[in-house]
Amino acid sequence: MLSEPSRFIFSLPKAELHLHLEGSIEPSTLLELRQRHRMDGASLAEVEQLYDYKDFAGFLSAFKDVTGHLRAPEDYELITYRLMERLKAQHVLHAEVIVSAGVCLWRKQDFAAIFEGLERGRQRGEKDFGVSVLWIFDAIRQFGAEKAQSVLDLAIQFRDRNVAGFGIGGDERAGPPEWFAEVYARAAEHDLHLTAHAGESAGPESIWGALNLKAERIGHGLTAGQDAELIEELAERQVPIEICVTSNLRTGCCADVAQHPVRSYFDQGLMLTINSDDPAMFRTSLVEEYALAQQAFGFTDEQLRELARNSFEASFLPADKKVEFLNLFDSAATRA
Ligand SMILES: [Zn+2]
Repeated sequence: MLSEPSRFIFSLPKAELHLHLEGSIEPSTLLELRQRHRMDGASLAEVEQLYDYKDFAGFLSAFKDVTGHLRAPEDYELITYRLMERLKAQHVLHAEVIVSAGVCLWRKQDFAAIFEGLERGRQRGEKDFGVSVLWIFDAIRQFGAEKAQSVLDLAIQFRDRNVAGFGIGGDERAGPPEWFAEVYARAAEHDLHLTAHAGESAGPESIWGALNLKAERIGHGLTAGQDAELIEELAERQVPIEICVTSNLRTGCCADVAQHPVRSYFDQGLMLTINSDDPAMFRTSLVEEYALAQQAFGFTDEQLRELARNSFEASFLPADKKVEFLNLFDSAATRA
């Protein structure tokens, strides 16, 4: 059992770079959405059952069920605002929030209207909590390249309204990176930053594939350790890895906490950031992920400070904003 995250962890200014909006909906908010849409089975216990699953496939299916509650732009506004409220409580100053735009398209929702809801939530959250948010639009890889192009169309359309990046997620083995070469090339032409879930449920070849797509960050990178040459490449190029330990344990992608490579990656000089991925669905939070790094892997306060600084350094913020956050981090962290 973990003990509470320390005061140091709370007070450390942090950014979160791998955070799914739809995976951040607390059961109580989901219950509110069920009532809003007059869906059955509206007790908290029943709603909480939605967050129980046994493996990666079960998790993807639960994720899909949760997104089934998101029907109106107001729903997206509400969950964005609630997420930012929780970020503020953990002293997270900036977050790059992944929106499964591919799910909206699959449900044939009016995405332009949904985006207005997202932006209303973001603006209210920024005003009330002082948290900065950029969006990353995520395509569902197993749906194929054509569907991913449609998600990219949306990212391009809203590029100037805080959409910083494009990525792929979902079932890695059912949608290898090679399918998405043209999509990623086009995203880069439109000055979108690139990230990809890679080496989460597939082997190191999937991480090489993501690097070939010119992904600037790697989501998870859990299986990189199986390939010494890859580790060398990641270390030399200082490719940021979005580490999500609890997620990997809860989906069964990593069988046991003792087998998680976060410590060895750090010791081998990889550029790591700490993330919660789907905090509500994994019953975690960013501060708990920092506490886990400290308590299960022996990261010192000084090392956590380095990881927190990395989270700003590896962000997709424009250069001037990044410098602003790093300066703020450096002056605050020396006092922490
Ligand atoms: Zn993810």
